[in-house]
Amino acid sequence: MKFPTVLYTTMIKYMAKKFFAGNKRYPLVMMLEPTLRCNLDCIGCGRIAEYKANPIADLTVEQCLESVEECGAPVVSVCGGEPLVYKPVDILIREIIAQKKYVYLCTNAMFLDRYWERIPPHKQLALSIHLDGMEAGHDWAVDRPGTFRKVVEMIDEAKARGYRVCTNTTVFNGTNPDEIVEMMEYLHQKGVDGMLISGAYPQEGEKGEYGLVSEQMNGVFRNIFSRNGSLDKFNFNNSHVYFEFLQGLRDLPCSPWASPNRTVKGWKGPCYVLTDRYYQTFQELMESTDWDSLGPGRDLRCADCKIHSGFEPTVAFGKGCTLKDHIRTVKTHLFS
Ligand code: SF4
Repeated sequence: MKFPTVLYTTMIKYMAKKFFAGNKRYPLVMMLEPTLRCNLDCIGCGRIAEYKANPIADLTVEQCLESVEECGAPVVSVCGGEPLVYKPVDILIREIIAQKKYVYLCTNAMFLDRYWERIPPHKQLALSIHLDGMEAGHDWAVDRPGTFRKVVEMIDEAKARGYRVCTNTTVFNGTNPDEIVEMMEYLHQKGVDGMLISGAYPQEGEKGEYGLVSEQMNGVFRNIFSRNGSLDKFNFNNSHVYFEFLQGLRDLPCSPWASPNRTVKGWKGPCYVLTDRYYQTFQELMESTDWDSLGPGRDLRCADCKIHSGFEPTVAFGKGCTLKDHIRTVKTHLFS
């Protein structure tokens, strides 16, 4: 479970600065969605359902950069929609990197081979490629045959070209756990630099049936992780604490403010999956949201939520962690 050391040390310095400045709540990873448009229509995606119901114009590069600057998070996850259908995505990424941020480009990889020249490898850039299983499971999740093969081809090519290649996997109600076990080993053999795994939030609407309620989630992840033996050999972008939480082996509070979401409609509040309203500025989102009313046991909508953007920051802030957890995390990131 190893982030690149440069990112880990940048994050530690940033958090130390915030701590000594007396900041109680601040962002770690900004989720930037310059477009809601997408070339796929995945089973669990609330964004594409939202876009189909109400098409809306993309953000301009200037609007994106203003938001990145206002937010100040050291990591920017460029997502969507599919960011590679956003024409100036190469300019956007170059400019965010110029602001000394670390960028995760979250893509389904279908158009990646059009961008090798326009978005070259960089030490502050990681590709985060959507992969929800092996061939049967992934093609089911994205509702399009042939997608898995294209993703694998793009992973191989990106690795050969020197990109830092990560994957992003969601486990749904209907996912075959055997495939996730197999996929972890498969990606490990390919030398993938970081795997991110999460359980699907049981959202409202036509795609809600694919979400996992808490007890299902615990069972599915215990099944998956118990069969892989020691997880230490894998490069995860998740923490071991979060994986214990996914299996129901420990509780964590949520830190929704740490992953603010700038969308085409504004700053989405209160979190990545819940939409009560949109704010025009990041400051307004931070100041107008009643953060203490959110999280499991506080808001009914949070009861079955275990998404990484809500709970991994909690681990980064050290909440709910023991001294043993901290030692293990430091050892993993700096000495292995
Ligand atoms: S628990 Fe989940 S749904 Fe609730 S505020 Fe946190 S991230 Fe949002």
